[in-house]
Amino acid sequence: MTAFSVRTIPPRDWRKGAQATVALMAAGADYIVGGVLIDAIEQDVYLVSCPDILVKQGGWSVWGDWQYAPVDIKLGKKPKLDYQVVATYHAYVLAHTQGNWPHESWLALREGRYHSVDLDQQLPKFSDVLNACLFDLRCEVAPEVFIAHSRCDLCHWFSQCYQAASATSHLSLLPGVTPARYTHLKAQSLLTLTDLAQAHPRQLAYLPGFGDAVAEKLIHQAQATLYDQAIARTPHNPDDSFILSPQDLPSAEVELYFDIEAAPDVDVIYLHGVLVVNHRQQTEAFHPLLAESP
Ligand code: SF4
Repeated sequence: MTAFSVRTIPPRDWRKGAQATVALMAAGADYIVGGVLIDAIEQDVYLVSCPDILVKQGGWSVWGDWQYAPVDIKLGKKPKLDYQVVATYHAYVLAHTQGNWPHESWLALREGRYHSVDLDQQLPKFSDVLNACLFDLRCEVAPEVFIAHSRCDLCHWFSQCYQAASATSHLSLLPGVTPARYTHLKAQSLLTLTDLAQAHPRQLAYLPGFGDAVAEKLIHQAQATLYDQAIARTPHNPDDSFILSPQDLPSAEVELYFDIEAAPDVDVIYLHGVLVVNHRQQTEAFHPLLAESP
C-alpha cells in the first residue's frame, strides 16, 4: 500500500491541492495525506475541507468500485464535539467530491485511540454550524467574539479577537465563564462586568452548571476585574450585601500574590510563582519556581 502526500503544495493554493487530490483519488491511491476537497455550494462560495488523511475503502464512487473515508488526527484523548462536527464536515464535502457518502469519518486520538463519528447523529449539528457560519460571513457586522482558551489559543485570529473582547470587557475574558454559562448569564441580562459584579450568588446558584461555589467565584472574579484589585474570598452571611467596594479590599505595605500553573492532561504542575508588590519601595518582583522538565 502506498501513501501519497499533497502537502508539498502551498496551503493557500487550495485549487491546485484539490486538483492533485482528485487525481490521486481517481487513480485509486491507498492513502492521501494532506488532501484538499472543494465543494462549490453557490456562486463564489466554496467549502474547502482538509482532512489529515483520506483512506481508500471498498464501495463505489464516481471513479469506480472504491471510495474514501476521512481521518483527522487530534491531540486530545476524547472525541470532543468540535472534532466530531469538523469530521462530519469532511464527510459532507467528500460526499460531493466522490459522489457517495463515506461509510465513516474517523478521529485518530491520543494514545492510539480511534473514534468513528456517528454521521447521522452529527449531521443536524453540523448543518446548524454551517448555516450559522454562512450567516456570519454574509453579515456586515462581525459576530460577537467569545474567548475560549481551549479553542482560541492556537487560532491565528486570536490577537484581533482578544482586542475586540478587551475593548468591551467581554465576560468570556473572566476565568470560569464558559460558553454554556455565558448563555445562562445572558438569559439573566447579566451582559457586562458591572452587571455580574453587582449580581448576588442566589441569582446564579440555581442555574445549570453553576451551584453556590461557582456563582460566588464568578461574581468575585467580576468584582476583582472591575475594581482592578485583589479581593478576599471570605465566607459571607447570605443576608449581607455581596457587593464589595474597593475600600473593602485588603492591602498591606508588602503584598504577595501566588500563582500556580499546571498541565492537568499530563498531571504536571510546572510553575509556582510569587509576585512581591512592595508599596513602600514602589517595586514589583516576580519569583518563578519553574520546572523546566517533568
Ligand atoms: S480567536 Fe476568534 S476566531 Fe479564533 S476561535 Fe477564538 S473567537 Fe473564534
